[in-house]
Amino acid sequence: MEEYFHPTEVQASVGPDRWVSLSSRLEGQASRILDLLDQHHVKATFFVLGWAARRLPHMVRQIADAGHEIGCHSYNHQLVYNLTPKVFREDTKRGLGAIEDACGRSPRAYRAPSYSITRRSMWALEVLVECGFTRDSSIYPIAHDRYGIPGFGRHAQTLETPSGPILEVPIATVKLSARQVAPVGGGGYLRLLPYCYTAAGIRRVNDDESQPVCVYFHSWEIDPQQPRLASGLVSRLRTYTGLGGMEKKLNRLLAEFEFSTMASVYPITAGDTGRRQGAVSA
Ligand SMILES: [Zn+2]
Repeated sequence: MEEYFHPTEVQASVGPDRWVSLSSRLEGQASRILDLLDQHHVKATFFVLGWAARRLPHMVRQIADAGHEIGCHSYNHQLVYNLTPKVFREDTKRGLGAIEDACGRSPRAYRAPSYSITRRSMWALEVLVECGFTRDSSIYPIAHDRYGIPGFGRHAQTLETPSGPILEVPIATVKLSARQVAPVGGGGYLRLLPYCYTAAGIRRVNDDESQPVCVYFHSWEIDPQQPRLASGLVSRLRTYTGLGGMEKKLNRLLAEFEFSTMASVYPITAGDTGRRQGAVSA
């Protein structure tokens, strides 16, 4: 959940100093997403940008009140591998504070801007544990020019950090050969490629490997009317191609497969609710 001017591809032409002057479209997108999920009786995990939570606290409350899980997508949408651990900690705490103030809940799931937890920013996981997160979904096990850890485990796994464990939930991929994987976890791949590509990939992981998949989309990906601020051919193609057909594809996806929040698909018992273990008894 972020504005159309937050993606890394757009920040190259519109810097953070201009954000406050730009009109918001997130609220309208959020209500369409809530309607879409409601039609299919699906609960989801919404990774909310702290900056957006400060601007639209009532929107975050509305999503939480509808029974969805609230996760954190940083405060300022900066690439983690460009930050120092100190700045990353500050940004994460600021994001948490903004979301807690908005909805009264403390997120336990984190997703980094542009999947920017890579080999050179694995230190971030320790900071996330210190900040109270039990799940992270920021590692994309593919090769990409801006993100990804090729060869990283493709399914949910517990990673040990000096501060404690965290469950890493990678975005869905299919195995093509011993060394090659292809992304099938939504986002640009769902938007740019035909629906059957993603659906066949998910079926393969579900049926052949008996594993769930983690699929995502950005709030702005269902909004063809958004101002198109990204410049440069590659950035514009990556950001704006297929916006018009995205909602229809999501409808098909939600009808064909069964989805739920990260917290219910990947439950962790101890400390997961923000309450002390054993504090609740019948
Ligand atoms: Zn983002």
